[in-house]
Amino acid sequence: MEPYFWWTDEQKEFYVKLGEFFKTIEQREAVTRVKREHPFELYEEVGKSGIMGAAIPKEYGGLGLGATGSCMLAENVHFVSPGMGRILVGNMNGGLRQIVEHGTEEQKAKFLPSIANGTTGAVVITEVTAGTDASGISLRAVKEGDHYVFNGRKRFIVGAGVATNYFIYARTTDDPELIKKHKHLTAFMVDAAEIEGIVTEKINDILGFENCQNGSLIFNNCVIPESRRVGEEGQGFKIMMNGLNFERTNIAATSLGWHRTMLRYATSWAQRRVQFGKPVMDISENQFKISKMVTNFKLMRDAVYVTAKKWDNGENVVIDASAIKAACAGLALQNAEMATQIMAGDGINTFYPVKNLFEIAKTDHIAGGTVEACNLTIFRQALKFWAEDLKMPRRVIDPETGTPVPTYDPVEKVACTEENLLNVLAENYRVNQGLCMTIEDIAEYIDGSDEEIVAAINALEASGDAAVAVRNRKTGAPTLTRASYDGLSKAHPDEYYMYWQSFIDKDPRRHLGSPALGK
Ligand SMILES: Cc1cc2nc3c(=O)[nH]c(=O)nc-3n(C[C@H](O)[C@H](O)[C@H](O)COP(=O)(O)OP(=O)(O)OC[C@H]3O[C@@H](n4cnc5c(N)ncnc54)[C@H](O)[C@@H]3O)c2cc1C
Repeated sequence: MEPYFWWTDEQKEFYVKLGEFFKTIEQREAVTRVKREHPFELYEEVGKSGIMGAAIPKEYGGLGLGATGSCMLAENVHFVSPGMGRILVGNMNGGLRQIVEHGTEEQKAKFLPSIANGTTGAVVITEVTAGTDASGISLRAVKEGDHYVFNGRKRFIVGAGVATNYFIYARTTDDPELIKKHKHLTAFMVDAAEIEGIVTEKINDILGFENCQNGSLIFNNCVIPESRRVGEEGQGFKIMMNGLNFERTNIAATSLGWHRTMLRYATSWAQRRVQFGKPVMDISENQFKISKMVTNFKLMRDAVYVTAKKWDNGENVVIDASAIKAACAGLALQNAEMATQIMAGDGINTFYPVKNLFEIAKTDHIAGGTVEACNLTIFRQALKFWAEDLKMPRRVIDPETGTPVPTYDPVEKVACTEENLLNVLAENYRVNQGLCMTIEDIAEYIDGSDEEIVAAINALEASGDAAVAVRNRKTGAPTLTRASYDGLSKAHPDEYYMYWQSFIDKDPRRHLGSPALGK
């Protein structure tokens, strides 16, 4: 695949090297999938190759290629191995970023070079009662002197039982005030060889995870030294959210590898499969499927590497990370659906890898936060960061056509009286019929503090029902206000609100309610 123009020479070389390296293990990886074996030897080869250091800073034994390097690794490993890629991405991107950003020098010196050399890792968040609601974790870590004692269980953990490092989130307090502020969780990173008391409870049989272990863990009086705590007590939720943004970026990159594999199999297969005396690729239905698959892939690849570049520039990617994760999950499944349909019987047969990708593409709708969880983040963050952009402009009635049009002319504010407020609400009825006004909207026209505007709304509503307010259920404060029908009549005669656009037949006899009708 072609490089992007903003990649450095080092990144371009790395991308080519990844492609060549994974070709050397592709065949053996395919066999482990059929045998359903965890490919320990292949992980060792990956470790020795040095590629695992992609996103690790050079001073800790890595390649210093940033999020871009890490997405390149995710794309290329998934091109040949959806299973191995799962553990490498979990290892690389689940715990790595958290250690880089929040780890102590001792933790960085211990864990980062070992990850660069290929030790695999697991990220341990989910529990039986804490899925999307990850703050509901109940694995308990109780501080005793210079260590914590862990008791509880986790589930759905990629790498459970086979990983070396575990990045664990646990509850360290039940204080309701701290829970309300999401300060009840704490993060830890441990090397399994250093501790006792964690056992694998069971291994899950997950769609598409033929050679990738996913399981549940039991923590039974497991002692973890305080030196393995990442960040301060109570910072766990914040660290988890940061980590998830990075993980989501990389999960999106994984699907690029799948898109490429599905494309190459579906294309070659359709060019060589003959029905009715010609290749099935000559059928326009199949050509359109391929072109749709290329479009999906292209859009996703651009979005992933732009997001990675933004990470590397230190920009805020909180919307981007969830957006590309959710979009790539959806488009990967769409592409998998089209690839299997083109290849028909061969598409849903283990004889080709497309069946495996069809299955595993679905897991991306769930792992790393469900598509719905991503959508919630996108919605909340977009409303927060793009508040200005998402506000529709002020509107006025155009004197020539009588219709509402946008304006950016300055407003001459009026004093905060009940009468002026009613006029503002009446004017809003003319330009935004059916919409209420927030306190902020009203403040664009009325010269007064929020408290004075609220007092005027309360007074207007109390004195003769001229205004109707929607109120905050807890505080009772007005949040959205509009003029009532009585208020509209009180503010202006009905004619003030009437307008007929220029294309309407102005013959008054044709308009019910016009002054001329029936008189
Ligand atoms: C393949 C795979 C790998 C995984 N790897 C790991 C791992 O390595 N480490 C780890 O800790 N976890 C891992 N998980 C767990 C994963 O993060 C959770 O499965 C996921 O967060 C959803 O939790 P749940 O399955 O309990 O579903 P639930 O949270 O019970 O959700 C059920 C449904 O309700 C929806 N829903 C829930 N709350 C809301 C809401 N507020 N608004 C809208 N919709 C909502 C969900 O989107 C979903 O459709 C993995 C899961 C899978 C499938």
